[in-house]
Amino acid sequence: MAQQDDLFKNIVSHAKEYGFVFQSSEIYDGLGAVYDYGPNGSELKNNIKTYWWKAMVQMHENIVGLDSAIFMDPQVWKASGHVDAFNDPLIDNKDSKKRYRADVLVEDHIEKINQKILKDVSKAAKRFGEDFNEEEFRSTHPNVTRRQEEINSIEARMKAALENEDLVDFKALIEDLGIACPVSGSKNWTDVRQFNLMFNTQLGNIAGEEGKLYLRPETAQGIFVNFLNVLNTSRQRIPFGIAQIGKAFRNEIVARQFIFRMREFEQMEMQFFVRPGEQEKWYTYWKEARLKWHKSLSLGDENYRFHDHLKPAHYADNALDIEFKFPFGFKELEGVHSRTDFDLTQHQELSGKKLQYFDPELQESYVPYVVETSIGLDRMFLATLSSCYKNEDLGEGNSRVVLALPPVLAPVKVAIFPLTKKDGLPDKAREIFNQLRLDLNCQYEEKDNIGKRYRRQDAIGTPYCITVDHQTLEDNTVTIRERDSMEQERISIDQVRQVALEKCSWGKVLQ
Ligand code: ATP
Repeated sequence: MAQQDDLFKNIVSHAKEYGFVFQSSEIYDGLGAVYDYGPNGSELKNNIKTYWWKAMVQMHENIVGLDSAIFMDPQVWKASGHVDAFNDPLIDNKDSKKRYRADVLVEDHIEKINQKILKDVSKAAKRFGEDFNEEEFRSTHPNVTRRQEEINSIEARMKAALENEDLVDFKALIEDLGIACPVSGSKNWTDVRQFNLMFNTQLGNIAGEEGKLYLRPETAQGIFVNFLNVLNTSRQRIPFGIAQIGKAFRNEIVARQFIFRMREFEQMEMQFFVRPGEQEKWYTYWKEARLKWHKSLSLGDENYRFHDHLKPAHYADNALDIEFKFPFGFKELEGVHSRTDFDLTQHQELSGKKLQYFDPELQESYVPYVVETSIGLDRMFLATLSSCYKNEDLGEGNSRVVLALPPVLAPVKVAIFPLTKKDGLPDKAREIFNQLRLDLNCQYEEKDNIGKRYRRQDAIGTPYCITVDHQTLEDNTVTIRERDSMEQERISIDQVRQVALEKCSWGKVLQ
């Protein structure tokens, strides 16, 4: 665990040192759970957005894009249920004065039991080798079955407490499990209370409730209220989707773990409108399609798992998370939700406008059902950064930090170096730089020795470095050095563009 903590600390400081992520308003000691993206961070973030947009919009003829405003009529949030029900159960520790999400405390406790099960499973797998049958082991080994039953009963009690809004039993559950505050170690808890996560502000000079505006806590509602506009202008037929990337705001109770949980963050959401009754089919389709999108980046297939929701949110009949193995354990990266016709029906009722679709095949009108995929851009950024960060031992006392980013996501694709600052080498290097940057994000560097320049590019994940030397002036060749293998090859200048474009092509991840 301590090793994982160190790894996480190293990633956070690497992110700052190399211009990926800065604390917001740092010169004023920083604003909690708000972050800014630096020169390399904004490139990486844009590339992740592009990957999502291309995969969802460009590669699906039946998905179109939208860019709706952050501010919306406050009635939107009444209709969606956010004013009344967008709450988290919170609990304070009286000794440390630290505030926690009650459900997260219980989930962390469950994860500890789960880790013990995994330990037994991996020990047995080693002992039995190829003959090991995990399913049989899990269903028969007394320690494992006892622990699994314990997990099931905790989950059932938490589910009942949430469904019945029984906050007294929620606190009793925390006490019965003997959960202690990670900071003070004490079990001196306050009662569990509900806390609404929406930020609000005031419209113009209208005082009081009347002028109250919310900062959207999700981008989805902008899609729902534009359902008819898009339908009438895009010539789409059901099933079809609307995709959007944009900021969302939540007044999170516990905002720790760097950019994992922020108060201002970005979402990439897609609402897929389907015939009533077909939602399960599409839920399964999108669950698999989204996992495939993740795995295409080759960040490690073992880093993903599905987690079905115990209690889907008030609007959903089915929901799951795609969890990722962050340095602090498996946590939600993306949600896939079957949102029924809840949102459109609610908006139809409150606005008095008919939000229906006439199905030419069925010859009837209905309110479509919706399957949503919702991923946090910042969490995706953290997943990418943390799984690509490597501290490599190169032998003979040498090491390097390398970000083994998928080339399509790398902030800089090619770095171009003149070997020295003399003999016309910079001019030649700039000539190559000026040509390559028309197609690829490139960097020109002449400071420090070549070794140092390689290390700097490794640290930001640049797939290729090109060095221009005296031989270049004679035969028009350069050395090209590949980030992961560190191998160098001499190739003709004319080939560089093709090699780099091939490696950084979107086609590599979109198929
Ligand atoms: P959590 O249980 O972690 O609070 P959630 O279930 O409330 O998340 P959703 O409402 O399903 O999250 O939002 C969709 C996605 O938006 C999440 O999968 C996550 O990637 C991202 N997200 C949600 N809240 C935050 C946040 N505070 N900071 C960064 N990303 C977030």
